Amino acid sequence: EQVNIQRLLSDLLPIVQQHADQKEVHLTTEVEGNTMIEGDSSRLKQVFMNLLTNAINYTKVDGNVSLIFKDKDDRILVSVSDNGVGIPQEEVSRIFERFYRVDKARSRNSGGTGLGLAIVKHIVEAHHGNVHVDSVVDEGTTFHVEIPKQFTQS
Ligand code: ATP
Ligand code: MG
Repeated sequence: EQVNIQRLLSDLLPIVQQHADQKEVHLTTEVEGNTMIEGDSSRLKQVFMNLLTNAINYTKVDGNVSLIFKDKDDRILVSVSDNGVGIPQEEVSRIFERFYRVDKARSRNSGGTGLGLAIVKHIVEAHHGNVHVDSVVDEGTTFHVEIPKQFTQS
């Protein structure tokens, strides 16, 4: 299935914007380049939804969340950044595990299950891509997703 990432993001945006408004977080998106890739649109939608939901949830009032899309040669690069609470270095390696949540007491308030990032990783890898994270406690977090445009190439 050919997926237009730009279209997919504009489908998501109203819902994500509403969440950002509710939490009083500023949301910006920047999309440039060729946004067509081969993949599963509903699953890819889930990837960006989960990352943006986290970025908004783990960022304080008046914080900033941004999504940047670029294409580079045979791949797309999408980063989702926030200037929120950040993730302690010793926990970063575990956040993609099912049910893993940093600081259970804090996270409990937001009512999640700890599955969002496990799903992200699973879907991105099923598209032969990869996801990694840069984070500094109290400064913020960026998730980088890289996915090949053609499903058949590695
Ligand atoms: P849900 O299943 O509803 O997504 P969740 O958000 O707790 O629940 P994940 O999305 O898998 O689960 O995230 C795992 C944990 O990683 C979170 O509980 C949170 O502690 C941490 N985390 C994820 N994204 C961020 C972020 N942008 N900033 C800070 N911490 C984050
Ligand atoms: Mg989540």
